[in-house]
Amino acid sequence: MPRRRFLKGAAVSFVAGQVIHQARGAAATDLTELQTSAPLIVSTWPFGKPANEKALEVIKAGGSGLDAVEQGIQVTESDPTNPSVGLAGIPNAEGIVQLDACIMSGPGHRAGAVGAVSGYKHPISIARRVMETTRHVFLVGEGAEAFAKKHGFEKGPKVSAGQKAAWKKWQTAQKAAEEKAAKSGKPLNHDTIALVALLPDGNLFGGCSTSGWGYKIPGRVGDSPIIGSGLYVDNEVGAAGATGIGENVMRYCGSFLVVEYMRQGLHPQEACIETIRRIAKMDPKGFDLAINFIAIDRKGRFGAAGTGTGFQYAATSSSFSKVLQSPGLTAADIGPIGGNRK
Ligand code: ASP
Repeated sequence: MPRRRFLKGAAVSFVAGQVIHQARGAAATDLTELQTSAPLIVSTWPFGKPANEKALEVIKAGGSGLDAVEQGIQVTESDPTNPSVGLAGIPNAEGIVQLDACIMSGPGHRAGAVGAVSGYKHPISIARRVMETTRHVFLVGEGAEAFAKKHGFEKGPKVSAGQKAAWKKWQTAQKAAEEKAAKSGKPLNHDTIALVALLPDGNLFGGCSTSGWGYKIPGRVGDSPIIGSGLYVDNEVGAAGATGIGENVMRYCGSFLVVEYMRQGLHPQEACIETIRRIAKMDPKGFDLAINFIAIDRKGRFGAAGTGTGFQYAATSSSFSKVLQSPGLTAADIGPIGGNRK
């Protein structure tokens, strides 16, 4: 079947559970609709849309790719209603919000990251400063906070007495829910903004920021600040980012894998699907991994995929800005699988 026809069909809205069949060649998904000219910004979840739009504004005003990624992600980090990114994020088991973030520049293949940082409003900016002013890539905990202090980064707002009382009440309720969720083996609450951008000059950039797994063990660092797991940018090929249970992404270098599939010639969406298929094949959890990826390539193609019912992501260019539903992959889509499953 000619590729154009194979790809034609359900545009960018997918019925969960059908997509892997489509990817295997039965029905069809019009991947040609998942392409635009640069600038292109793609990020995780509907809350990524205003971040994308800020990034586009920065690019149009002549800002750099790093400025666009940083300022875009800052929008999400500043949102007091977002419980999974920035200082409004769900705290760890000791009631302290610990944030993870990283940034990557395709040109120069540079990266910076911070993990388990408390008290600072914009971990994405601290990550960028690590990249730009040190010979290191990744600073964590107290060391990262001392670095942020030295560089004069903005601290988060102090919690008022009223806020604290409400917080405690809320925390008690959340903890009860978390205990229930823990019994089911699933974390209560977690999301991430991973944002990747293609500039008109062909250069790629990306960033990632999260408060991670709600009520995590203090010191826990997820996939989001780990280069190759929560984010990966290869200026020759494309960029990818992840959201979902970080433990299930970082054991497979998920974003790196997506980029490597794109290097082999897969469309970004196919690369996300293939990455999830491959991980699910190997992992004892199969398709219960709760992992999701976004990806873009140098040609302005983009896409996403997730386990289960998939997830929503945001794509923005000069001609559109929209929230899309990704394909979702379940065991039913692939049948019995082997690998390391026990
Ligand atoms: N990947 C993040 C973490 O594990 C959470 C998420 O994106 O849902 O910290």
